[in-house]
Amino acid sequence: MTQTIDTILAAARRHCEDEIMPNVGAWNAAGVWPRTASDKAGELGLTGLYAPTELGGQGLPLGEGIRVYEELGRGDGAYAFALSMHNICTYAACGFGTEALKTDWAQALTSGRKLANFALTEPQSGSDPMNMYSRAVINEDGTWTINGAKAWVSLAGEADIYFTVVKTTDQPGHKDMAMIAIPADTPGLSFGPKYDTPSYQFLPMSEMYMTDVVVSADNIILPVGQGLQGSLMAIDIARVSIASGCCGLIQAALDTALAYSANRKMFSGKNLDLDGIQWMLGDVATELEASRLLYRAAANALGTDEGPLMAAHAKRFVPDAAVKAANTCTQVLGGMGLLQSYGMDRLSRLSQMLRIVDGTTEISRIVIGRHLQKRAKELEPLPIPKGFGEG
Ligand SMILES: Cc1cc2nc3c(=O)[nH]c(=O)nc-3n(C[C@H](O)[C@H](O)[C@H](O)COP(=O)(O)OP(=O)(O)OC[C@H]3O[C@@H](n4cnc5c(N)ncnc54)[C@H](O)[C@@H]3O)c2cc1C
Repeated sequence: MTQTIDTILAAARRHCEDEIMPNVGAWNAAGVWPRTASDKAGELGLTGLYAPTELGGQGLPLGEGIRVYEELGRGDGAYAFALSMHNICTYAACGFGTEALKTDWAQALTSGRKLANFALTEPQSGSDPMNMYSRAVINEDGTWTINGAKAWVSLAGEADIYFTVVKTTDQPGHKDMAMIAIPADTPGLSFGPKYDTPSYQFLPMSEMYMTDVVVSADNIILPVGQGLQGSLMAIDIARVSIASGCCGLIQAALDTALAYSANRKMFSGKNLDLDGIQWMLGDVATELEASRLLYRAAANALGTDEGPLMAAHAKRFVPDAAVKAANTCTQVLGGMGLLQSYGMDRLSRLSQMLRIVDGTTEISRIVIGRHLQKRAKELEPLPIPKGFGEG
């Protein structure tokens, strides 16, 4: 059954309050992906947000569906991130996959019964994906034989299919890059030891090894030559999704600080009566409003010429605002902000993680810087006085 954005957002809010908030501590203690929770997210329609309705998705435009992560991010930014990557892969499978792939996978992915993730990063190539070593050889029968290693694969060993970016020659550059979906049970696919992370232990992450992995041409998502461009489009959606999740995180930090501060007695009043505290939390509230406006504008720009720049602005600004908000709100709780039970430390670590994943803050600055250089070329040059390094 398809739903309007309002009913989907209400379902995401319920999922956050009923499943994530009460259980995230136990998920982290267990260090296991909460498959029962993601199954429930699937039942609510949260795992096929942008996929067409005829394939079991919700058919939402990106500009609307991305708001789901703001709701989920109030509960946990890593859970919101993992579902956002699943939704992007599902969108790619349903939009760019072959008919055979859609027949085998579309309904399973949109329903959340099967989970997908994206494997681009390699041990030697994070910010610089063109330096990847993973290679696919295209065989005479059309199948691909893949060898290589990926790093930082989220949902490692838990996802049922991995949307993997590979090169198909040894030539430098991206003209030979492609994306192919590798099912988890393909012989030759294996995973390294789980990374030991500080606050999102329930999200399995590790290296992924491909040793003579043979995949049918039916699984090609982006053909040779389109792998990098298509991945960058996916990453733009991921960047805005992260900004959306960060707004949920900022709201969670602010709400915790307000609930504590309004109740903490001091100087014959309450902590929240102090002007200094109101100003600190007021700044967090302003940055939250600015962040919401920015990520929603970026979400609406996806798919247009402005999409990459707006995604970079959102990914540059909002996770930084989340890091600041988590620090400020911790400070407002005084010593109590350092106790696990208030959850502020978890929010600080999550916000820092969200500054890195899917393109760091610095990489966003590079994208913005390139646009500024283009803009400068359109302007009439201002004269520089002689002796001051003119043109
Ligand atoms: C929790 C988590 C989950 C992840 N999940 C996935 C996943 O599912 N799939 C996947 O493919 N990847 C995933 N990643 C990888 C992530 O996208 C990379 O970590 C990220 O792109 C940065 O790459 P790197 O860690 O190799 O840092 P590096 O590229 O080594 O960068 C190191 C530092 O140098 C800076 N830097 C790099 N280039 C420049 C430059 N030109 N100018 C100035 N500074 C620069 C960076 O900003 C950073 O501060 C995940 C990462 C994390 C942390």
